[in-house]
Amino acid sequence: HPRRITRALLSVSDKAGLLDFARQLASYGVELVSTGGTAKALKDAGLRVIDVAELTGFPEMMDGRVKTLHPKVHGGLLAIRGNKEHAASMEAHHIKPIDLLVVNLYPFEETVAKGAGYDDCIENIDIGGPAMIRAAAKNHHDVAVVVDTTDYAKVLAELAEHSGMLSLELRKKLAAKAYARTAAYDAAISNWFAETLQDDAPDYRAFGGKLIQPLRYGENPHQTAAFYKSPGERFGVASARQVQGKELSYNNINDTDAAYECIAEFDPARTAACVIVKHANPCGVAEGDTLSDAYVKALACDSTSAFGGIVALNRTLDAEAAKAITEIFTEVIIAPDATDEAIAIVAAKKNLRLLLAGGLPDPRAKGLTVKSVAGGLLVQSRDNAVVDDMTLKTVTQRAPTAAELADLRFAFRVAKHVKSNTIVYARDLATVGIGAGQMSRVDSARIAARKAEDAARDLKLSAPLTKGSVVASDAFFPFADGLLVAIEAGATAVIQPGGSMRDAEVIKAADDHGIAMVFTGTRHFKH
Ligand code: 5GP
Repeated sequence: HPRRITRALLSVSDKAGLLDFARQLASYGVELVSTGGTAKALKDAGLRVIDVAELTGFPEMMDGRVKTLHPKVHGGLLAIRGNKEHAASMEAHHIKPIDLLVVNLYPFEETVAKGAGYDDCIENIDIGGPAMIRAAAKNHHDVAVVVDTTDYAKVLAELAEHSGMLSLELRKKLAAKAYARTAAYDAAISNWFAETLQDDAPDYRAFGGKLIQPLRYGENPHQTAAFYKSPGERFGVASARQVQGKELSYNNINDTDAAYECIAEFDPARTAACVIVKHANPCGVAEGDTLSDAYVKALACDSTSAFGGIVALNRTLDAEAAKAITEIFTEVIIAPDATDEAIAIVAAKKNLRLLLAGGLPDPRAKGLTVKSVAGGLLVQSRDNAVVDDMTLKTVTQRAPTAAELADLRFAFRVAKHVKSNTIVYARDLATVGIGAGQMSRVDSARIAARKAEDAARDLKLSAPLTKGSVVASDAFFPFADGLLVAIEAGATAVIQPGGSMRDAEVIKAADDHGIAMVFTGTRHFKH
């Protein structure tokens, strides 16, 4: 069903490419109808245009809030061609068909991103535009709708190929894109409202986002993928600037996000810190006097896994850290910023991706996380609990020493960002063994201890660094067995949420071995 275009309505805020497109349409004998600013631009370029006010018999009014909301417009878009009753209505009310709609919307997202005030944002909610887009897309059997300036070329190519007609296939694709656009637009509005309400209840939010980039493939090469940015979020991987390196892959983005969310737990005013991530789990985290010091300590935790990892830093990347990091193969570096000298050092590794986020996200910020399940979405508020805000309760006879306490807080901070079941051994503000993602907590405790033994062998130490370490568990120990593994590995203090039916048994095991244990009362499951 190719359709000839006799009349087009153009109403665009973004006037890029408009004049060329309109000129070409006119050359096919298409009659152009347009709204205020768009009509003016076309007339100034010498094109013949009918003002929509002339078509409707109503002036554009109320600061442009009402321009095209009229049966002469919507009838022209929605009438089913070849339907007798529709044709009779058109004739009775002097409605002419509109076969092509070209609309891009008031720049709501850009207005919000600029940091505009409330009234300005409200005024940039387009009403007539989405109404027309939805009408034209519904009637795609007879009408074509263009919402993206980059589609002008596609439409012109078909008009040339089919001598002034557009195919049903193209009209369907344009309709799908049109609804994607109005859905994303409304999602942006709803998310902005939710943000102004400071309320993270899911019912105030719509899920949608703006396509940032199609990705070459997904988690595996046979999967397709794309990267969307949700409106309002700042200082994350979605808004970071890529300074150099190969194109980011799906897995890079996922891992970089895990690394950056974890590093954000370390206040740069208090300490320098480094997180190394592999397969969405930290394989080394450390605080240090400098970034390079932190990197070296983080790397020592599991240098085997760190190969090809993602490195996140909480301060401006400096030359010294850039030199240390580029000594081994690294996929991505992400930091709030970088010095010119550091950028030059990284530039020597052409493929290495360097992302600068402009700042660190606030770990206490409200927000939602979304996970897809078959046929649905699981939505929850983000885990914004921070160990510094928790009241730690000593439950054993021995209380932790000041040094143990610092390491306990550090270990629990890291445990939040390790997939459950999580066991993290730490010593001197660096991880020395991380057990992630096991189906049993005992296994996580064992794996982490074994990794510390491997690291000791690599570093030619006389004993694994778990000797004299502290240990964090993301959730309570259901039995004493996991704790006993940690004690055997050499841990002297424990941090965990508590709340198990068998807490008494676990506390007794700790007391029997002179271990200090604190309860946080807060769990950090992450699946
Ligand atoms: P122009 O620059 O032509 O004056 O305005 C173009 C913009 O107006 C487009 O972004 C289009 O979506 C929007 N628009 C068209 N009709 C209406 C309407 O009836 N109400 C509102 N609020 N916006 C409209």
